[in-house]
Amino acid sequence: MVLASAPDKNVFSAGPVPNALTIDVEDYYQVSGFESRVARNQWHLYPSRVKENTERLLVILRRRQVRATFFVLGWVGQNCPDLVRQIRDEGHEIGAHSFWHHRIYTQSPKAFREDLVRTVQLLGDLAGQPIRCYRAPSFSITRASWWALEILVQEGFRYDCSVFPIWHDRYGAPGAPLGIYRVETAAGPIWEFPPAVYRFLGIPVPCGGGGYFRLYPLWWSLWCLRAIRRQDRPFLFYLHPWELDPQQPRLPGPLVNRFRHYWNLSATARRLEVLLDEFPFAPVSQVMEQYLRQKGTEFPVVRISELSKPTGIATARAIKPAEGVKLR
Ligand SMILES: [Zn+2]
Repeated sequence: MVLASAPDKNVFSAGPVPNALTIDVEDYYQVSGFESRVARNQWHLYPSRVKENTERLLVILRRRQVRATFFVLGWVGQNCPDLVRQIRDEGHEIGAHSFWHHRIYTQSPKAFREDLVRTVQLLGDLAGQPIRCYRAPSFSITRASWWALEILVQEGFRYDCSVFPIWHDRYGAPGAPLGIYRVETAAGPIWEFPPAVYRFLGIPVPCGGGGYFRLYPLWWSLWCLRAIRRQDRPFLFYLHPWELDPQQPRLPGPLVNRFRHYWNLSATARRLEVLLDEFPFAPVSQVMEQYLRQKGTEFPVVRISELSKPTGIATARAIKPAEGVKLR
């Protein structure tokens, strides 16, 4: 079904830039937190819930006429092709979330490219349009895997949403810019749109979705996101379909991973509706196109050589803008 009814509150030709809403379409047993207990060649043995959970999200978005970017796991696209077509038919953008959900820094560049090409071909055929947006499994583009950005450019990607500018045991690039920036690679530029992080009393606070959205009190998430908007920049929010599914089967795994995965699942749908009622959202490409039109050249530009420094952590201060481009 194509959303055709007017007016569409996601058509923003002027005025405030909407925020980016992103969904990582994967099943509950495919997450990195359980990968030590769930072998990839056993995925097909688990009862799948990704279709029903994604459809719950689609209903919530349809009711509010909100469109999003759905970063689909290639394996899910292969096994649920109609789900990808349904997402597309409802006017959402299709992005790529790898095929096998391997974290990038555990892969060789060659293996990453093979996984990427397979995913892009599959999703591109299903969506009937080129795939331009990427989200790495578990935000795994870090200082150990910056090379992935160059490969993304070579494979036709324009936007990446994988670099989380915080410290975390599984991901993160502390010191990377909090706002949108352009990364210059040897193959050309790519725009990086990081998940929402608000610097509170000097501390970067991740507030862009997922487990943080379920863990914090709702008022704190909203307060941080409002504070980002007051800085005159859009934020990027992310969720997974399994986060709206309190009934999903419980899997064994490390205690901390079980806590992160299962905490407060019953609150996600209601909280998402509160969020959608307060903030305007749109797919990544739409947000970026409008933001670029408004901002012109006033963007941080980061050279990959700066990000890749093997010693220490490149900070936003250490990253020099290109000539004629000023840091915010
Ligand atoms: Zn994922």
